[in-house]
Amino acid sequence: MPELPEVEVTMRGIRPYLNHHTIKDVAFSEFKLREPFDPRLHDLRGAYVQEVERRGKYILVRTDGGTVIIHLGMTGHLKVQHEQDPRVKHDHFAFYLDDGHVIRLNDQRRFGLVRFVPPELDPMADKHLKDLGPEPLSAAFSGAYLHQALKRIKGPIKPALMNARIVVGVGNIYASESLFTAGIHPESAACAVPEEQCEKLAQIIKETLQHSIAQGGTTIRDFSGADGKPGYFVQELKVYGKAGQHCPRCGGTIEKIVQGQRSTFFCPDCQKLYQR
Ligand SMILES: [Zn+2]
Repeated sequence: MPELPEVEVTMRGIRPYLNHHTIKDVAFSEFKLREPFDPRLHDLRGAYVQEVERRGKYILVRTDGGTVIIHLGMTGHLKVQHEQDPRVKHDHFAFYLDDGHVIRLNDQRRFGLVRFVPPELDPMADKHLKDLGPEPLSAAFSGAYLHQALKRIKGPIKPALMNARIVVGVGNIYASESLFTAGIHPESAACAVPEEQCEKLAQIIKETLQHSIAQGGTTIRDFSGADGKPGYFVQELKVYGKAGQHCPRCGGTIEKIVQGQRSTFFCPDCQKLYQR
């Protein structure tokens, strides 16, 4: 599943091809993704792209004719192609641009999302975006903020970090990796983690994500950047997917547990358990 760094890398990859260009046409397949395609997407014919940005794991293409909100779901990826390049299986959505480029969304499992927001409405007020917590790379996501947010949660810290209302875009891999680096046991009660550790954790989350973005995103299954280059961060994971292997810090054994139906990897010897 593409995580925040992949979405950021994708957004940066497609932005130069869309920004300040005119959309010649929009095409979508007869299949529905998470939601059916909105027929009003055709209104974007002739629209001028003002800005492309990311909010959480959503990419927003803002035009003078409305905004398109794209989520890559489980298997979605965006490709930059030329209009003569043929449409292939699982290509479900496309922007055709004035200079002959086409941006295609390929999504094998169709858990992705393409939404149209008319120009008179604020896309940030869309149901998928309005309740999102702060961006992890913004100043609003500080140790003090994280401590305040976690204080209200009696459950374990790892699922709390993955809750988009607390902070957006910290997915399963980054939650495991960040907690390992911060030395916090994933089953620690969120409300019991001291402010000093929250400070450290917030900093580590920022560094981990920034590093991953710089490396081009983590390649787990079928992610590739908009220009087709795969990411490389996967070799640098310390605990994720490494159950039974030696902890890179203390030499102990990395364990795997399941929290909220997601796999968590950690070292029981060097990650401290904070309890209520
Ligand atoms: Zn260890």
